[in-house]
Amino acid sequence: MNRTLVIVGASYAGVQLAASAREYGFDGRIVLLGDEPDAPYQRPPLSKAYLSGAFSEARLPLRSQAFFDEERIEWMPSVRATYIDRARHEVELHDGTRIGYTHLALTTGARVRKLDCPGAKLDAVHYLRDLRDARRLAQAARSARRAVVIGGGYIGLEAAASLRQMGIDVTVVETEARVLARVASPWMSEFMQRAHELHGIAFRCGRKVVTVQPERDAVSVVLDDATHLPCELVVVGIGVVPNTEIAAECGLTVTGGIAVDECARTNDPAIVAAGDCASFVPHWAPADSRACRVESVQNANDMAKTAAATIAGRPEPYRAVPWFWSDQYDLKLQMAGINTGFTHHVVRGSVEEKKFSIFYFRDDALIAVDSINRPQEHMLARKLLAKDAKLTLNEAQDSAFDLKGATQ
Ligand SMILES: Cc1cc2nc3c(=O)[nH]c(=O)nc-3n(C[C@H](O)[C@H](O)[C@H](O)COP(=O)(O)OP(=O)(O)OC[C@H]3O[C@@H](n4cnc5c(N)ncnc54)[C@H](O)[C@@H]3O)c2cc1C
Repeated sequence: MNRTLVIVGASYAGVQLAASAREYGFDGRIVLLGDEPDAPYQRPPLSKAYLSGAFSEARLPLRSQAFFDEERIEWMPSVRATYIDRARHEVELHDGTRIGYTHLALTTGARVRKLDCPGAKLDAVHYLRDLRDARRLAQAARSARRAVVIGGGYIGLEAAASLRQMGIDVTVVETEARVLARVASPWMSEFMQRAHELHGIAFRCGRKVVTVQPERDAVSVVLDDATHLPCELVVVGIGVVPNTEIAAECGLTVTGGIAVDECARTNDPAIVAAGDCASFVPHWAPADSRACRVESVQNANDMAKTAAATIAGRPEPYRAVPWFWSDQYDLKLQMAGINTGFTHHVVRGSVEEKKFSIFYFRDDALIAVDSINRPQEHMLARKLLAKDAKLTLNEAQDSAFDLKGATQ
């Protein structure tokens, strides 16, 4: 059979994998299957500038149709892969047809975790994962006066900021004691919550939603301390669930995500996986760490490149420095590295002026840097981490110290 790469999932990881496979010399057929009707698009603006109306839909696509044509990538919209026949090397589609493959890539991403309480299915309850969600939410936001955001993670806080900028009164409900508890240090959580409060957002941390009650022309979000929060709009951002069913059904190993090694290989040599759906032991974690998934554009793109190199017969371990960003109001938060297990931290710059970075160290090794409105410092931090550069706490804190020099 001629070489055919079938990619299931047409978003960041799928599109990058197709592009990189071509770049690395894969000359066979490439079929990119996506179950969404829209051309592959950027998700981050959906909770940020797209929601507040400052980013038009025309700017969302990741690549033009001309790109797919030139690279001979057969992108197929509204096509769902339903079964993988590993013995025959075929993928079955929702209409029963089958496509044969020599190489298969799973880039199926993740879907939102649904609210599980009475009233969760009311029309006023919204999620934010895909463009259809975002269109529906943006439409509803136009006539809302009050919103309750359930979940104080990145999606929840970004949605809260966008809605607030549209003049809507917003309350954020978070079960943990602080916002961004899973992904940010206590100092960054405190700084971000304060920034939201200064914009007039109310927080209910350490509280659970027990029900969403219909009311006349509105709903009421009821908390476990019996507080009622009346509103026209509820936005739920309580995390995602990886799309692993298709992998599990055909016997691939699934450990919280589709299990892959450092070259993005599953336990079937013909199948790779990348992006939000894939779980792996990251190179930055201690050797005995458990596999985990990483949900970011950087990870989807860089893992896809790793998977493409494997398919092209040039396997290279995934070693990219993880990074992430979030835009809320006038704050650009950028994170490089992972600060898990840090023992020391120092602040460089001015918190009052909203221009600073926090450098995290594990013993004497720099492991992560969070920056607020310091994009150049963020880029330097990525270089420092990639180089494993030696930096002392004093140097990191000293604004006069030449960070650029330390990257050379
Ligand atoms: C609102 C929002 C804001 C975000 N902001 C940021 C940010 O600021 N910075 C950042 O780094 N990250 C951000 N993220 C996360 C980032 O978008 C994800 O990490 C990234 O989209 C993961 O890409 P992926 O290709 O792995 O998966 P996904 O983007 O989830 O794409 C998977 C695709 O596969 C499709 N699919 C699944 N199963 C099948 C099947 N069986 N057949 C066919 N198609 C299938 C899905 O419908 C989907 O289109 C944000 C996400 C959202 C939703």
